[in-house]
Amino acid sequence: MRLVLVGPPGAGKGTQAEFIAENFTIPKISTGDIFRANVSGGTDLGKLAKKFMDAGDLVPDEVTNAMVRDRLGEPDASDGFLLDGFPRNVAQAYELDSMLNDLGSSLDVVLELEVEHEEVVKRLSGRRTCRNCGHVWHLEYDPPTVVGVCDRCSGELYQRDDDFPETVRHRLEVYSAQTSPLIEFYISRKQLVRIDALGAVEDVTDRAIAALSAARS
Ligand SMILES: [Zn+2]
Repeated sequence: MRLVLVGPPGAGKGTQAEFIAENFTIPKISTGDIFRANVSGGTDLGKLAKKFMDAGDLVPDEVTNAMVRDRLGEPDASDGFLLDGFPRNVAQAYELDSMLNDLGSSLDVVLELEVEHEEVVKRLSGRRTCRNCGHVWHLEYDPPTVVGVCDRCSGELYQRDDDFPETVRHRLEVYSAQTSPLIEFYISRKQLVRIDALGAVEDVTDRAIAALSAARS
């Protein structure tokens, strides 16, 4: 199973990535992890990336592409993988094709987690974070016993800037604008599978596994 996972912020992509990868016994490869591994491992690419980051610049696509290429060439990815965070655009999608082609394989499927935007706004804007221990509560799904107070450590709860409804809506709009050409690209290739990512974590995982198994057969 060679799989790319796509989904908006707040869709629980990180959690689903773990469970799906575990189910198919494939490594979960995220661009964040690849970056950290290269930078902390002091590879040439890591040093190059760090130079851009230290200067406050975006790491160029070529550097990211080279890191992903290296990672996909590692033995544990030879029988499949779940890619999270790559490709981000159509140019990178073509790059991924070329990487896999060089490795003698190809992409099986792109799974998109779909959630209604206002549902994400509701989910994220209900979060309250403890200033003391960092635990995240939710006004609706996991409320603290006393309003504004952490059950674990009695610390003060607050709403992170990232969780303000306007901020969440903005992030979702940016995501849609950036991702829709990529989604269209994979639809035209008949490689896109969509699932509803609303509901309990286990239910979403079951839905994802069923959809992926069907897509593969
Ligand atoms: Zn606390």
